Amino acid sequence: TLHASADSGDKKKVVVLGGDGFCGWPTSLHLSDQGHEVIIVDNLSRRNIDNELGCDSLTPIQSPEVRVQAWKEVSGKDIKFVNLDVAKDYDLLVQLLKEEKPDSVVHFAEQRAAPYSMKTSKAKRYTVDNNVGGANNLCCAVIDSELDIHIVHLGTMGVYGYGTSGGEIPEGYIDVILPGGRESTILHPAYPGSVYHATKCLDALLWQFYQKNDQLRITDLHQGIVWGTNTPQTAKDERLVNRFDYDGDYGTVLNRFLMQGAMGVPLTVYGTGGQTRAFIHITDTARCIEIAVNNPPAKGDRVEIFNQIAETRRVRDVAKMVAEMTGVEANFIPNPRQEAAENELDVSNKKFCNLGLDPISLDTGLFDEVTEVVKKYKSRCNPRKILPASFWNKKRAEECASID
Ligand code: NAD
Repeated sequence: TLHASADSGDKKKVVVLGGDGFCGWPTSLHLSDQGHEVIIVDNLSRRNIDNELGCDSLTPIQSPEVRVQAWKEVSGKDIKFVNLDVAKDYDLLVQLLKEEKPDSVVHFAEQRAAPYSMKTSKAKRYTVDNNVGGANNLCCAVIDSELDIHIVHLGTMGVYGYGTSGGEIPEGYIDVILPGGRESTILHPAYPGSVYHATKCLDALLWQFYQKNDQLRITDLHQGIVWGTNTPQTAKDERLVNRFDYDGDYGTVLNRFLMQGAMGVPLTVYGTGGQTRAFIHITDTARCIEIAVNNPPAKGDRVEIFNQIAETRRVRDVAKMVAEMTGVEANFIPNPRQEAAENELDVSNKKFCNLGLDPISLDTGLFDEVTEVVKKYKSRCNPRKILPASFWNKKRAEECASID
């Protein structure tokens, strides 16, 4: 049951877990800009992983303290920043919820790179502990707070398993006839393609369980690949600039191509580029989150699931668009991932559209924004970091050994 329109007019208090990240920061600013009260929680693990990998955001992101101070100067609005680990600092999390009494918690605070999650056993174990532990902690903390807090979680299109259903992927649930003839509505089968995607499938089961057992109000957003850099809010001051990942582990496909195009280095297309993926612009990520925050499910309703995507495209077609725009060629390299070479992907996104989202599609006009950002900060780029640095298994690693 959906209760309100895109802007219901009532302003919320929102805790944004992972609010220092690529999606979390612009979303925090958008919510603040719209008049909601925002508290960012982040343990800065993403910045630490950059140190571990010897990479850095292409854009010179400022510390959380400088960021919120700059936002105060630009907008007159306060955003609080709290450094805590959602997966480890349980008591502090409960205390924060009890003190702040938020209407909603938006949960971005997970290790989000599929390649990084496949890098080593250490990275696999960290990704599972951090993501699944964090999701479970959040549910327990909401129960312990004794407050009726709406959880909005960022899931991924990858929970569905690309192209396995052979038709339009619905929003979260499918109607089935179980053995014995009983009709039922169940979660779409989970078919993850990496340890990272597996954590999102496990999260989805936790949401389902805690909704059923404790009547938690939960929205799970299965998001596509996010592209773009800045939003109207982050563009207001250089100190507010969003992070831009371009390395082989964290750089997502379209941003990586745009970056390679702007730098004049060949676009690295994995395999045949026949993988179809779902895309969404960063400005729409922030808008979708606000719509979700404004439209909580009622107590007792099943977990609300939205597909948070604008459109689907084949990777080689995306590469072609960027190649035509920049004159830089595509270079087809062995695929570091264990996946089907070609797949179809047809996804429903009706729910967000019905709530007023008019999604930004892949259009070369908006590619310019990313290209300009890349050109501006080009000297910060280490081109050696662009190639794949994580491989799904031994066979993939061997096949990729020739890439240079
Ligand atoms: P990100 O790594 O830039 O941001 C995640 C933030 O969470 C980081 O700032 C990190 O420091 C923080 N964090 C991680 N673990 C934490 C913990 N235990 N305690 C406190 N803070 C913690 O990632 P992103 O691209 O902004 O993604 C945000 C969410 O959106 C993720 O859950 C991701 O799975 C989902 N998502 C992202 C994309 C994409 O293309 N970027 C696509 C689909 C879904």
